Amino acid sequence: QTGPGNPYRVVLLGASGVGKTAFASIFAGAADSMDSDDCELFGDEVCEKTVEVDGEPATITLLDTWDAEVRWNTQCNMQTGDAYLLLYSITDRPSFLRASELRITLRQFRPVHHTPIILVGNKCDLVRRREVSVSEGRACAAVFDCKFIETSAAMQHNVWEAFHGIVRQLRLRRDSK
Ligand code: GDP
Repeated sequence: QTGPGNPYRVVLLGASGVGKTAFASIFAGAADSMDSDDCELFGDEVCEKTVEVDGEPATITLLDTWDAEVRWNTQCNMQTGDAYLLLYSITDRPSFLRASELRITLRQFRPVHHTPIILVGNKCDLVRRREVSVSEGRACAAVFDCKFIETSAAMQHNVWEAFHGIVRQLRLRRDSK
């Protein structure tokens, strides 16, 4: 059971520029919050709030990895998260490759537990700059045994669906224990 004392720790991972800050801002915004309070901030990259998913409250602590290239930071986040949103930009193929690398690194840190991960193809509003197709994203998620969603933080499209999806996966894992 999550609550203010025992939140789900969800980590945003991905190359620089893919939209992690944009995701965190949407999460931190008042929209979709159960209470009218803004997000509680614990420093720049951590934010906690309670949202309702399928009629049940879920408290999420969101960690935004401010620089995934800083190795100790990445390792630290890979050890502390309960679940991961693995972001790339559909307009940036190197960020897609980076997501694969991060997935492999995650597996090294989390070999045993089935940690919920969603592969997130962000910036799907930029249709004319697309470099990674939907089917490539889906195929990659299948290989990695994780869920897949395309989002647009700019259009606020599917961002909450991604957060809700991760909560559903965390609950499934909890219920199967
Ligand atoms: P971060 O480095 O992963 O934190 O990426 P940011 O959130 O700072 O985003 C990098 C740039 O991409 C910023 O200029 C954002 O406004 C822009 N951006 C983020 N998400 C989207 C999106 O879904 N669509 C578009 N068009 N731009 C986006």
